[in-house]
Amino acid sequence: MDGEAGFPGYITIDLAALRRNFERIAAIAAPAPVAGIVKADAYGLGAVQVTRALLAAGCRHFFVAHVEEAVALRPHLPTEAQLLVLNGLQPGAEAICAAAQIIPVLNSLAQLERWRTQARLEGRRLPAVLQFDTGMSRFGVAPAERAAVRNEIAQSPELEILYLMSHLASADEPTKAQNAAQLAEMQMVTREFAPLPFSFANSAGALLGKDYHGALVRAGIALYGGAPQFGAANPMEPVVSLSVAVAQTRTVPSGTMVGYSGAHLTSKSTRLAVVSAGYADGLPRSLSGRGAVYFRGQRLPILGRVSMDSMTVDISDLPDEAPDLGSLVEVIGPHQTLEMLAADAGTISYEILTGLGRRFRREYR
Ligand SMILES: *Cc1c(COP(=O)(O)O)cnc(C)c1O
Repeated sequence: MDGEAGFPGYITIDLAALRRNFERIAAIAAPAPVAGIVKADAYGLGAVQVTRALLAAGCRHFFVAHVEEAVALRPHLPTEAQLLVLNGLQPGAEAICAAAQIIPVLNSLAQLERWRTQARLEGRRLPAVLQFDTGMSRFGVAPAERAAVRNEIAQSPELEILYLMSHLASADEPTKAQNAAQLAEMQMVTREFAPLPFSFANSAGALLGKDYHGALVRAGIALYGGAPQFGAANPMEPVVSLSVAVAQTRTVPSGTMVGYSGAHLTSKSTRLAVVSAGYADGLPRSLSGRGAVYFRGQRLPILGRVSMDSMTVDISDLPDEAPDLGSLVEVIGPHQTLEMLAADAGTISYEILTGLGRRFRREYR
């Protein structure tokens, strides 16, 4: 496997696997449909390409975090597809959302009032999702605000509430009591706001059972091949792989310092390879002295600090002729999953994916 000259590395994104992951979650969620969460450029994988693949798989609901993301994505969606903004209706965004057929997730009474004002201004009904805080203390209508919101809804025929919504804080840890507590709160909200349907589960929530599904499951990480549940076997198919090029090799004697701050000191004669990916490419500095890459299935430990544009790995265990300059080593692939890399870096798959650099060549399959 040799790289084309000029590229420090290659990210491949398997859109067929993405599509199968969507179908897996759809089968679990059925009869509830599954929305594709394509915020943060579809977790770094390319919102336009991912959205196109999800549309082909039958997905008709898409969530982003910000209005700017929605404005950029709307032209790539058919009219009947719903495009929703998770982080709420920020002041000044009302006319933009209404004009571009972007549906805000309303997170407070004030947002509800501003969206209704927009509807009156335009003399038409406007759709919205109404989010509630059921225990995460992040977005959504606070419990104390619920009665006022209910009154407001009753007096707002110009708003079409598509879903009541909330988000789970601990769904990736199925045994945590917070899941059932949030579900009980969500069920209370649905009774108070009957007969509106609700949207509750993310990827991990979909695996918690039917009670959590409501009328729309919102899947992100599972589509992109990440493990929905912490520490459990991953039922999803890998979507992303990353290989980076070897830029230099050298052999150093025992007692040689490697990299910034001399953080690694060799204890024997060591063959080193400098590979073309660093923290500017989304490989966290926390991989220093902890992580590894792979070549033909052989683990090559990272020695010393991860630099901005490179890191140095130990290739002493490889045959003398390997790897050639330009050879590609595996960072994410069959020998090292996204989860393994994230664990070595002390983070989660979401952060690795959304941080993967823009200097690598991207190939969609
Ligand atoms: C990001 C996000 C999701 C998707 O979560 P995954 O764990 O990636 O499936 C769903 N709902 C909300 C509110 C989110 O912010």
